[in-house]
Amino acid sequence: MKFCYCPDCKELRPTSWYRRKTCLLCGRDCRIISIPISIYGYAMYALSAVGAAFLALELLEEDLGLGTWRLFILFGSLIAAMVLAAVETEKASSLAAQRVGKVR
Ligand SMILES: [Zn+2]
Repeated sequence: MKFCYCPDCKELRPTSWYRRKTCLLCGRDCRIISIPISIYGYAMYALSAVGAAFLALELLEEDLGLGTWRLFILFGSLIAAMVLAAVETEKASSLAAQRVGKVR
């Protein structure tokens, strides 16, 4: 995850590679802080992949002999992925805050 830190506004925001690396408040260049993906992030990607695979199977009306279980797996993996994404964002944000010396 990448964060954009503005030394002038003391603003720390998550940012993406496609966004401009400037502060949203003052428009000046911000410092980019990269936080490596944690185990939660990888688990999130894995669960999203599972969810997407089951969604695809659902669209293809492929049963796999799982019956209703496939719906539990489909929604369960997607919900778990969302929870993990939130955990990942939270952890990365606090790491980034520590990096810039702005401990919450
Ligand atoms: Zn700023």
